[in-house]
Amino acid sequence: MAPNLAYTPIEEIPKIRDALRQGFKTGKTRSVAYRKEQLLHLGYMFQDNAERFTQALASDLGRPRQESIFLEINTITGYILRAYRDVEAWSKPEGVTFNADFFLTKPKILKEPKGTVLIVGPFNFPIFCTFRPVIGAIAAGCAAVIKPSELTPATSSLFAELLPKYLDPELYAIVNGGVAESTKLLELQWDHIMYTGSGGIGKIYAAAAAKHLTPITLELGGKSPVIIDPKTDLAHAAKRLLWGRTTNAGQACLSPDYILCPASAQDELIAGFQAAYESFYPTPEDTRKSMSRIVAPHHFDRLQGLLDNTAGTIVVGGQTDKADLWVAPTVVKNVKADDVLMEHEIFGPIVPIVPVKDVDSAIEFVNSRDHPLAVYVFSDDPKFKAKVIENTLSGGVVMNDTLIQAAFDDLPIGGVGASGYGSYGGKNGFDTFTHRRPFMDVPKWLDIVLGSRYAPFTPKKLKAI
Ligand code: NAD
Repeated sequence: MAPNLAYTPIEEIPKIRDALRQGFKTGKTRSVAYRKEQLLHLGYMFQDNAERFTQALASDLGRPRQESIFLEINTITGYILRAYRDVEAWSKPEGVTFNADFFLTKPKILKEPKGTVLIVGPFNFPIFCTFRPVIGAIAAGCAAVIKPSELTPATSSLFAELLPKYLDPELYAIVNGGVAESTKLLELQWDHIMYTGSGGIGKIYAAAAAKHLTPITLELGGKSPVIIDPKTDLAHAAKRLLWGRTTNAGQACLSPDYILCPASAQDELIAGFQAAYESFYPTPEDTRKSMSRIVAPHHFDRLQGLLDNTAGTIVVGGQTDKADLWVAPTVVKNVKADDVLMEHEIFGPIVPIVPVKDVDSAIEFVNSRDHPLAVYVFSDDPKFKAKVIENTLSGGVVMNDTLIQAAFDDLPIGGVGASGYGSYGGKNGFDTFTHRRPFMDVPKWLDIVLGSRYAPFTPKKLKAI
């Protein structure tokens, strides 16, 4: 039974922000040693409580233990250790290209923490998506208010309980709540806002940030397409796609949302899905044991509505169980561009296959829609791959796999156009919360050459310019 989430009293929210601002003003976070200590404590928070976090994630999302450990706890710990190792180098002033006209002024770029920031997380990967940005904020020396999703009450309660025990409460705080609490947060001024969630709500954040001219990073979602080269190993492609689509029951921003496949190869691809399905889930119980649940009844109803109303043909899965918020891994064939499955991001374990003529029509299809967070290509042909890369635009592009780009900390995670702007992950997260402040120190004696800029503007000075 999931616990009720204790919402932060609305009247406390401005006080929390003000207190963190005072904490930031003490200048503690300027010390890289302090940031490293906080990062280490954050790592301990996840490691010491790994069992409690996996239980909370199981309670909120029915998440299999292996997925929680592999995709959240171990991953976040790896990112924290990486930031711990590199934050000193990231924080060092950055040199600029030698320039004979300016080198005497010692030009460089200082790395300044932006200040007190707001980080808002989604429900789907409560640790990964909410705390990966937090790593960047701590590394950059910012104070942070963290607003996890209200749809994951067990995990968000655990954050509220544990964070003050592990991190400096003068600099970092959790605010829990729903729309009213988030709205209050958005009335306040921040030095940066990082929002991860759906595009519709993202617009509310962008508008609120604009009121205070606050810089904002928007990590949004959308429909990430898969383009299939019919000459590739379709059985292997289907296996990887089934994994990508069923991880966290398809509730992943980078999940492959739909497949563009030449009509002639569709049945072979489906045979691959059927084989992969049988190998992943040898018994009917395995489809439940090895799958996360849909986060909330209204999301389940949305997915059920899609399955009820699609004009495509369900060829794999299709079963659902509302009492258990469970949707079987499902493949739907012969889906048309105007089908209900193609209207919005599906965010569930359902994958439509849209038959297309060839790679050119697949590219045209992708380009007729918003820029997605990812484009996936399954092909062994360098020309096929290059054609898709050169003729589409997306947050990221991956050949022959899905989701894996989120695992590598050096690659920025971020969208383009409707899938968002700005990025995070590794040094990208540090940069997001850092102001790059140009620096020069101009010696007095340099007036030997700079003197000609002062009035009165005599002909002699004009000549010297
Ligand atoms: P959501 O937009 O419903 O909620 C995200 C956050 O916004 C939550 O903390 C929520 O409390 C808050 N919120 C909700 N309504 C609000 C309102 N009216 N005013 C202010 N705040 C409000 O998103 P979700 O359903 O939790 O997450 C799923 C979405 O997030 C998907 O679209 C997915 O693609 C996207 N996502 C993107 C990334 C990425 O890195 N690009 C990662 C994970 C999820």
